[in-house]
Amino acid sequence: MKPRVAFFDFSSCEGCQLQIADLEEDILNLIDIVDIVSFREVMKEHSDDYDIAIVEGSIMRPMDEQRLRRIRNHAKILVAFGACATIGGVNKIRNQWPVKKVMKEVYGDVDVENNEFFKVSQTKAINEVVPVNYYIHGCPPNREEIKHVITSLALGKKPEIPNYPVCVECKKNENVCLFELGKFCIGPITRAGCGAICPTNGSPCDGCRGILSKPDVECVMELLQRYDLTYEEMKSRCTIYNTGVFNPKDGMTLVRRGKNE
Ligand code: SF4
Ligand code: SF4
Ligand code: SF4
Repeated sequence: MKPRVAFFDFSSCEGCQLQIADLEEDILNLIDIVDIVSFREVMKEHSDDYDIAIVEGSIMRPMDEQRLRRIRNHAKILVAFGACATIGGVNKIRNQWPVKKVMKEVYGDVDVENNEFFKVSQTKAINEVVPVNYYIHGCPPNREEIKHVITSLALGKKPEIPNYPVCVECKKNENVCLFELGKFCIGPITRAGCGAICPTNGSPCDGCRGILSKPDVECVMELLQRYDLTYEEMKSRCTIYNTGVFNPKDGMTLVRRGKNE
């Protein structure tokens, strides 16, 4: 029997789900190996009988947490899908300010206090609320990796996701390092798997695939020294997708070994 797959979204731009809708004829190959029982973007039907839940978006409110827990209870396998879900992504930028201040900035004097819909907490990635089995990284994730993860799960295999830096793929592409051109790239601490698409096209990596579980801290400090950059600049570059990873509470060793801490 084919595994039943359901897609869900929380706070997001839905660009990750669009990547699947855009698979075009490849989607037929996926339908050969899985039954899609819920996918709001492309079908009306919905079923709560699924094996694999693929969840896009960040968690912003207590009501989202409750819904996510229900999804987790139904699913045998839960996959966090895209940067908003895997690391909080751009939605976590607001965690740099108190929730009340952010609400005031967005809604002004509108009374949102007594409305459940507006009861907002700090932004969380999916694994800060429920256990996650697998991750599909990126903003948006690349389609080859989406196919690889779904196919592996359908075949009962563990998907292989790189845990080495974007620099490896960048070097393979024979690019001139962007630090040499005066740009600040966080490829050295970011998980590869995107083919170093940004630096290959002249834009520094912003870390959308998340920070490596064990970045080479010595190498990063050496790099900062060589280009006369500061640890603070590195932290600031990471706030686009990875706000909070430099918090010692999150166990990011970079924070304890950085010379400016
Ligand atoms: S990860 Fe990027 S593409 Fe996906 S929902 Fe979030 S902002 Fe959109
Ligand atoms: S451009 Fe970025 S990803 Fe490429 S080698 Fe330099 S630091 Fe690494
Ligand atoms: S190069 Fe960096 S920002 Fe660009 S897609 Fe890859 S991980 Fe994301």
